[in-house]
Amino acid sequence: MYVVLGGGIGGLSVVHYLQKSSFKNVKLIEASSRVGGWIKTTKTPEGFVFEQGPRTVRPKGVAGENTLALIEDLGLVNKVMPIQYNHPAAQNRLIYVNKALHTLPFNNIRSLLVTQTPFTKPLICALFQDLKTPKKLVKDESIYDFVERRLGKEIAEYAVNPLICGVCAGDAKEISVKFLLKSLFEAEQTYGSIVKGMLMSIFKRKPSSIFQTKCELFKRAEKERWSVWSLDGGLELLPETLRISIKNQQADVLLSCPCTELVFQNGKAVVKVSEKIFECDHVISSLPAKQLALLLTKQHPELGKELSSIPTVSVVVVNLQFKGRLLKENAFGLLVPSSEKLPILGIVFDTCCFPKGDNTVLTVMMGGRWFDQFFGNDPSPDKLLSTAVQYVHSILHISGDPQAHEVSLLRNCIPQYVLGHYERIERIKAYVNEHNLPLSLVGASYDGVGINDVILSARTAVKNLIKIFNDGEVI
Ligand SMILES: Cc1cc2nc3c(=O)[nH]c(=O)nc-3n(C[C@H](O)[C@H](O)[C@H](O)COP(=O)(O)OP(=O)(O)OC[C@H]3O[C@@H](n4cnc5c(N)ncnc54)[C@H](O)[C@@H]3O)c2cc1C
Repeated sequence: MYVVLGGGIGGLSVVHYLQKSSFKNVKLIEASSRVGGWIKTTKTPEGFVFEQGPRTVRPKGVAGENTLALIEDLGLVNKVMPIQYNHPAAQNRLIYVNKALHTLPFNNIRSLLVTQTPFTKPLICALFQDLKTPKKLVKDESIYDFVERRLGKEIAEYAVNPLICGVCAGDAKEISVKFLLKSLFEAEQTYGSIVKGMLMSIFKRKPSSIFQTKCELFKRAEKERWSVWSLDGGLELLPETLRISIKNQQADVLLSCPCTELVFQNGKAVVKVSEKIFECDHVISSLPAKQLALLLTKQHPELGKELSSIPTVSVVVVNLQFKGRLLKENAFGLLVPSSEKLPILGIVFDTCCFPKGDNTVLTVMMGGRWFDQFFGNDPSPDKLLSTAVQYVHSILHISGDPQAHEVSLLRNCIPQYVLGHYERIERIKAYVNEHNLPLSLVGASYDGVGINDVILSARTAVKNLIKIFNDGEVI
């Protein structure tokens, strides 16, 4: 028997791939009363879609193709809503600096040559600075320091700082460049500069597909030049469809069943869930690392310590719907650099991506690395709502109250890949191997923060199991 811990997109994908490769007797154990983890969509009575977690997925690269293949497998192709490269939501990203909105100048070659506020020089100057700056051999560095050193302070402050707020609600001065922007880090370490490394990568052969035949939906995404995609009715359709699919194929899905202890003995794993105990051949954990640490730290304190050292941040998501088309800018949304010292990380313009009649739907993200500083221990939903509405008023000049809203406080929802994360993950994997633990690790804590990374980590874990057990069909 194989036990999968956690029914977020990671755990559900593991079960899907296990079934696809003909592993039988799979049990999924989920603490809450629903599957999906952070992927959660609600609909207002008037039919407005409020995403409380992720909202869009990128179609690019190996991980992007893998997710699109999953979408095909699940029969969800007709539900996919792409945003193409030439759409304003793909072209325009705004930052809020010095009490004004500015468009980030990264959307075309021409924008490299002109000076756009808040930058004081054209971006091309940053590229020359990179070419002139000597290589510095480092084991790891913060993304902020790396970019400031190679491309200048303005790019670090106005582009990278808000980007990291948007990607992981974190502080660019703490996040590892080696982990999150590995290709840029390696470009300097190998070729001496980001620009040279990027030029060299053009000549390197990239795998065109991870599958023997390219997935049809991925081909369509390439042909139609998708920037990102979502699902009609909201992204929660993906975990919900996975739940139905794995149940139809006889997976045992236990909801409202938190795992309380995990013990390894005689090459097997013993999983404790309330009063029940399951012995199994292998456990695949898709739990956040801190949660997994709690389960095994008694037997494996060293591993528990490493797992619990992966920090997380909490994010407040406030969905708002206003009557009328109130946005002056057509863009994906805006991000706020942490140097502005505001409680908000950014605002997504949902109805610019997917219009909904004569209405404006926005999602305000707040807190992240600075949650405690701005909101303390236990902020009330009213305070969170009023803070979000206040900044919608002051930044976007949208007055009046929203017609519908939803406030969600997502505690410890985003892992932070801080300096040394890469080495920590190597140590964790080495520990599991050296102690022959029948345990695989999947999910956002380890190999990447996005949905694509998590689904790919699930597929990789199952591929490795096929090798270990010399069983199952190749996926
Ligand atoms: C606000 C926000 C916005 C995001 N936006 C995007 C986006 O636009 N695009 C994108 O690609 N990604 C985005 N992400 C990231 C993406 O949502 C996550 O990477 C992904 O959902 C993580 O999935 P997971 O399965 O690893 O973990 P989780 O979703 O955390 O699932 C873990 C599951 O384990 C369960 N669990 C915990 N403890 C136990 C226990 N003891 N026993 C049993 N079960 C347990 C939990 O209840 C949960 O269901 C966003 C994340 C957040 C929070």
